[in-house]
Amino acid sequence: MSAPRLRNWAGNIAFRPRRYVQPRDLDELVEIIRVSDQVRVLGTGHSFNPIADTTGTLISLDHLPREVRVMPGRTAVSAGTRYGDLAFPLHEAGWALANVGSLPHISIAGACATATHGSGDRNGCLATAVAGMTGVDGTCRVFHLTAESPEFPGAVVHLGALGAVTEIELVTEPTFTVRQWVYEDAPLDNVFADLDDVTSAAYSVSIFTTWDPPTARQIWLKERVAAGRPDPPARRWGGRLAERDHNPVPGMPPENCTPQLGRIGPWHERLPHFRLDVTPSAGDELQSEYFVPRAAAVEAYRALRHIGSRIAPVLQISEIRTVAADELWLSPAYHRPSVAFHFTWIADEEAVRPVVSEVERALAPLQPRPHWGKLFTMDPAVVRAAYPRFDDFVALAERYDPEGKFQNDFLRRFFAG
Ligand SMILES: Cc1cc2nc3c(=O)[nH]c(=O)nc-3n(C[C@H](O)[C@H](O)[C@H](O)COP(=O)(O)OP(=O)(O)OC[C@H]3O[C@@H](n4cnc5c(N)ncnc54)[C@H](O)[C@@H]3O)c2cc1C
Repeated sequence: MSAPRLRNWAGNIAFRPRRYVQPRDLDELVEIIRVSDQVRVLGTGHSFNPIADTTGTLISLDHLPREVRVMPGRTAVSAGTRYGDLAFPLHEAGWALANVGSLPHISIAGACATATHGSGDRNGCLATAVAGMTGVDGTCRVFHLTAESPEFPGAVVHLGALGAVTEIELVTEPTFTVRQWVYEDAPLDNVFADLDDVTSAAYSVSIFTTWDPPTARQIWLKERVAAGRPDPPARRWGGRLAERDHNPVPGMPPENCTPQLGRIGPWHERLPHFRLDVTPSAGDELQSEYFVPRAAAVEAYRALRHIGSRIAPVLQISEIRTVAADELWLSPAYHRPSVAFHFTWIADEEAVRPVVSEVERALAPLQPRPHWGKLFTMDPAVVRAAYPRFDDFVALAERYDPEGKFQNDFLRRFFAG
């Protein structure tokens, strides 16, 4: 099939493939990889940079048979499945994922490939739930990796560089309920005076600000609870408990978000901020995000507050989350308990890019690691240097894909170093 006009979710990237294909079974997928010199797999296209692009063959796995096999403590799922489509059958069968991102619309394979994350002092990025991975590599070999495989920690966050992932096995736990509360208008100085107190106040905590003024417009607390727990105090950290539902993005309707005000619900209807059946976030936006070591959170805050008046004019909202350290070579939380500073920008790349660079300069002394799926302008050599196992990952990718079929312009900039 010649390529239709394909764009990412945000519309800022026009993909440039010669061919766009939707194989119907594994044999077709293997044959496509065999005859292609350049090839990439597209997930749900929610990344804000050209990480999924190729000038060769772009593969969608949407037409492969979809399967969910729920087992005790584990679930195997077709890699192109969206979190939102897995969540319901999983919950009905009595199981849950430990965490999800802010929206359920993204594919499991695409999210894990870029180390997508939610929030929580004890919650790793979503890829830390991966227990097994099956796919077809650049040599057309069908591979199956489990946590016992030596290359597993290198392969899980793979940026699409190893091959086409067709099935992912995820660790699950017995299903649980969550309620969320929002605090409004707490000064950021109070929040960062004792960040541990704020981020340990619930299972998953998100702090939203526009930087100018330096106020947490909203702090979202997601608690794992059964019924009967008392309500939280009316005032905390200088903010007040909200008495109506909110959308974290200024001007967007609260109905697009999951229920708040302490209403208890299943994990998959509370852990994401946005509901599956509506447009998540602002819809018209760009995003960037930087992980800094947790120990540097206050310094990062001061650096960003200092340039708050530069950030605010091109910003819709910033979100501050915590991510537990992990062992996955290309995870931005590799060996670092992290605080992630996220920016939802206006949809004007020309105006946003200089400010993105300014944010990067402000955070530079703190060794920030940018989110792989979002907009960043950092020198690829600097990004690569922030990952102690990057050279090992390059060697791994060369074993899985010796001809570099799964490379693209985005990856080559990092691999070239
Ligand atoms: C509104 C919005 C909200 C977001 N919220 C969050 C958030 O809360 N937390 C967060 O961390 N990120 C967030 N993101 C970023 C998003 O999670 C990542 O960009 C993620 O990679 C998107 O998944 P996708 O399926 O759309 O991947 P794509 O953008 O389609 O692809 C990403 C990468 O994965 C590869 N890939 C995809 N599928 C496969 C496969 N089957 N086999 C091999 N390679 C594959 C692609 O080649 C590419 O390299 C958000 C994005 C948007 C648009």
